Parts: sequence; C-alpha cells; structure tokens
Amino acid sequence: MQHHTLRRLAWRTLLLLTAAPLSALPVACGAGGGLPLLPSDDAGDAGLGEPWTGEAEDDERNAGWIGGPCEAASSCVHVQTPACLQGDAWPGGACTQPCTRLCPDLDGPHSVTFCAEVEGQGRCLSRCDADLYGGDGCRPGYACRILPRFNEPTTQQPTCVPEGWEAPDPTTACRAALDDLGIIWAPWDYTTQRDDDTGLACTIDDPIRVSSPINGISYRYYNQDTSAPLAVTCELALALHRLGDVLKPRRITQVLHIGTFNCRPVSGTQRLSEHAHGNAIDIWGLVDDDGQDYILERDWEHDTTQPRTSQGRLLYDVAQQMYQDNVFNTILTPNYNAGHDNHFHVDLQPGARFIGYGPVQTSRLDSGEDGCGVTPPAP
Ligand SMILES: [Zn+2]
Repeated sequence: MQHHTLRRLAWRTLLLLTAAPLSALPVACGAGGGLPLLPSDDAGDAGLGEPWTGEAEDDERNAGWIGGPCEAASSCVHVQTPACLQGDAWPGGACTQPCTRLCPDLDGPHSVTFCAEVEGQGRCLSRCDADLYGGDGCRPGYACRILPRFNEPTTQQPTCVPEGWEAPDPTTACRAALDDLGIIWAPWDYTTQRDDDTGLACTIDDPIRVSSPINGISYRYYNQDTSAPLAVTCELALALHRLGDVLKPRRITQVLHIGTFNCRPVSGTQRLSEHAHGNAIDIWGLVDDDGQDYILERDWEHDTTQPRTSQGRLLYDVAQQMYQDNVFNTILTPNYNAGHDNHFHVDLQPGARFIGYGPVQTSRLDSGEDGCGVTPPAP
C-alpha cells in the first residue's frame, strides 16, 4: 500500500505542480518519464467526464479509458465511441476509439491520448506516462514508441503500443524512393478541397512538396525568376525524376511550367482533372544550359513528324520520348486541341497510356477528353 500511497501523492503533486503553468493544456499529465516531453499540440481536445477524485489502485489506471484493459467495447465506459483492440497482439485488450487527427483526454489517473495508425485506421492510443505506470510509462505487455500522428505525420509523440508491435513506417515506399534518389521534399499538409461547382472532392494520394532541382532539372513557374516547391503527389515527383532522364541528355536544365495542383474539373465536364488530384503538370517550355529556351506556343510545329527548326525538333523528340519511356501515363501536346496550344499536359491518370499527338496519335483515352484543368495563361 505504501507504493500506492506514494503513487497517489506523486499524482496529486503533479496535478498541483502543473495545473497553473499548464492551464492552457487540456490535462496536466504525461509530463514525466525518460522520454523528452514533446510540445503539446492537442490544445482544443475537450476533456471528457468528471475530474478524477477517487483513489487510484494500480488496476484503476486508465480503467475504462483509452489505453486501458478491456474484454469488450463495453469495458471502455469512459470512451465516447468505444472499441476494444483485442487478440494476441493486444495483451489484456486496449480501449480505443476511431480518430482522424485528435483524441479526447480525461482528467484523473488517465494517460493523455494520441491518434495514431493501427492497421490503416486512425485509433486513439495512450501516450507513455511514467508517472502513471513507472518505467517507460506503459502497461505491462506494452512499450513506448514514438509514433506519427494519423493524418499529420510531422507530429510525433511517445505512445504505448504492444511490445513487439511493428509501428507503421511514417515514410511510404514512394517517399523512401524519393530519399533514395536524393530528391528534396517535405510533407504537404493538404486538407481536402472541393470543387465549387461539382462538389467533387479533390483528394490527393500522398501529397508532398518537392523542391528543385529534381534529377538536375529546376522547375519554375513560367513567369517567375526562381523555383518554388511543387505541390504534387509523391508519384508525380518520381515521374519528374524520370523526366530528368529525358531532358538531361538534351542539355535541358529548366522546365517552365504553368501549374500542378488545381481543384477543378476538366473543362466542360463533371469529371475532375488529374490536376485536382495533384497528379499533373503543365509544361510551358524548356531552357537549356546555354539559356536557349524552347517554348511550346512559339516553337511547336503542328501536325508534323518532321519539325524543321531545332527548337521544334527538340520539343517533338521530348514528347515522343516521354511517351516511349513511360515517364507519364497521359501526354497531351499542342496537336491535341487548341486548349493545349501552349503547353504539354502530362499526368499519371491511373491506367492511361496515351499521347495526344494529332497525326501520330497512338491511343486514346476512353472519354477522349482533355485531361487538363488549367486555363492556359495569356501569351
Ligand atoms: Zn494540364
């Protein structure tokens, strides 16, 4: 009992010590232990239930609360939408509830919570709390790991997971590939937008911002002097790396573009453009290491496989090789229609293998629609 008394005292002392300076925080616990205290970013999480006033026995810690033991969801009496993580992987069960980014907290002998990924879903877990459990701050059978927050991987917190549990890798295979290729990128904290007219959701798979140069090529907006990070899917960033392999042998060092992400449908349709999914880029022109530029609107020679100028030849060859080398899934050239007179539209529309090329067109999209959602800028 001495042990319990000490723990209670420690608990109350912690509350007293932290109540004033941390009054802005939802609860004042979880501050001890061998792990560094990371800045609290759960401000705004509402406390639930009554403040804890009872006597804490060991088996009451987190009882009925997130991270506490359970035999069924009904054991999780303090949880708003209770569920019980069970099976060999979760010794003694663990109360949880679904989450998209944040989780509620509860006063009393209860760990602060954290929304993390469990088998592909957002689930509330308990943070490590050495004042509550001693050691690394987790129940027997559980271990403290630093996990990324679900839907916000740049935020990470020490969280209790089953011992031996393999934490989901916050880095996708695609992102690991970017790292392997030396591509500079950062997560893009994208909140799904909706197109005003159709109400369609502009979802983005694995949104990132990728910085120039990419495989030796700098990307800048056609009327800007400097490069800015591109908002794209991770897969499109990999495609841009492939594009470098097409451009570098031609001594191209810069791509002038007129946009990537744009939440809007294909002009004249109710279907979202690949731009709405961060999966497309419109290429206005190219610049080589001598400063010579190759501008689609000026230099593209329409409806011929034998361009006469060197600029026209280079643009034609680049379009052909982008297609032959599967750099992108869809390639629309100025031959495709007037809407593309001043750019190559290239995207990664799933399942497409298409070059919109006029007289040497090799295949067509089912819809035959232009995949471009960007209004071309004035010349
Ligand atoms: Zn486009």
